[in-house]
Amino acid sequence: MPLNPKFQAQMNFPTYLRTYLFLKESHHWSKERLERYQLQQIKKLIHHAYHHVPYYKKVFDECNIHPADITSIADFQKIPFLTKDLVKKNRDTLKAQNYPAHTFETYYTGGSTGHPLQFYIKKGKYFATMRAYGTIQNEWTHRHFLDKSLVIIGQKDLFKTARFGRTLSVSSFNINDPDIPLILQKMKALQPNYILSYPSSLSKLAMYIKTNNIQSIPHVKNIVCIAEVLYPWQRTLIQDTFHGRVYEHYCQRESVAFGLTCTNTPYFHLFPQFGFVELIGKDGQHIQNEDEIGEIVGTSLLNDVFPFIRYKIGDLGMYTSQQCTCGCHYPLLKKIEGRTQEIALSKTQQPFSLTGLYDLVSRSTHHIKECQFYQDTAGTLILNIVKTTDFTDKDHDLIQKNFQNLFGDRLDLILRFVDHIPLTQSGKYRFFIQKLPTECIQY
Ligand SMILES: [Zn+2]
Repeated sequence: MPLNPKFQAQMNFPTYLRTYLFLKESHHWSKERLERYQLQQIKKLIHHAYHHVPYYKKVFDECNIHPADITSIADFQKIPFLTKDLVKKNRDTLKAQNYPAHTFETYYTGGSTGHPLQFYIKKGKYFATMRAYGTIQNEWTHRHFLDKSLVIIGQKDLFKTARFGRTLSVSSFNINDPDIPLILQKMKALQPNYILSYPSSLSKLAMYIKTNNIQSIPHVKNIVCIAEVLYPWQRTLIQDTFHGRVYEHYCQRESVAFGLTCTNTPYFHLFPQFGFVELIGKDGQHIQNEDEIGEIVGTSLLNDVFPFIRYKIGDLGMYTSQQCTCGCHYPLLKKIEGRTQEIALSKTQQPFSLTGLYDLVSRSTHHIKECQFYQDTAGTLILNIVKTTDFTDKDHDLIQKNFQNLFGDRLDLILRFVDHIPLTQSGKYRFFIQKLPTECIQY
């Protein structure tokens, strides 16, 4: 995760080193030892939350839970979920009382759902810890110190360089047709071995290279996709264009879950030292069936100044009980399946997950540059499309036909042609904009 230089300056080096060395050592722990460690950390967190965080004192008392009663994960599951709405309403009482005010720092989520969430972190410690995880991420994805790197993220300047010109950062806001030729020129001059990017930005570059029959950049060894869901068509396009090995990284500012794919598998390894991750089904219970999709709920083991306990991140994931062949015993998540907000409502108010719909569009036509679904009326979905000059009525009809095969008459689709798809404040792409009130939409 790239860090803001302002925060890097605040970094606490002993915390960084301690975290890094602990991650190196615990990487080799057995499954049982990792589980024991997590339970021990959870118990410590619950005890701290009950005695120092007014919100949890109230919630535990209301639910008749005492920290001493939590002796297993089954006990832990009695604690009610924390949601983004609850965080907004209880921000002050979620703050731990046993730390002086000057040790806190305000922090925000990127606001990819349109509303940034404000919370608190511990000055110096948070960024040092995240930096240690960043170092581990570099090691897992084989980023060598001397590698020339291309980074595409949401930033103000079109270009920024670092590490004596060996890292080129490009703004995801500028990945559009007028700027792409210059960006490609810079990329070719750099010849990066390593790319870290939002998948939507890199796919747009790949699409441009393919459509205009341009020679791609050689020598890319490793590509890390961050911050957005990587759709299968994007993975194929990126791999075919840049030829490097593709890794995925999953994390959030609230720091409740940290996932990385490894060289052996495209499944996410969830770091148990970072957070305790649960996959919750519609019945509110843990999912235990292979390939079943559930809501990702995370408990941060890093941030005790503002504890996120059983926090509904707003993402969906696919369960697997498999273990990776790389020898690491971290639990795996087969896929991140998109956000819980990616749920549309049918004419009869039934919820429908839009997962896989992007692939349906890309299977129907190659003549679109980008697209985004939008809903403000139950039963109707709008598909905003930035088309290429080759887009014809045939493409239009095929999208409609494939959509109807999937949804029948439960959802109508309207195609609209637009000049561009706006990005979020953090420069990320969103696949679906849901304007219906969130209380109507239950996963
Ligand atoms: Zn592995």
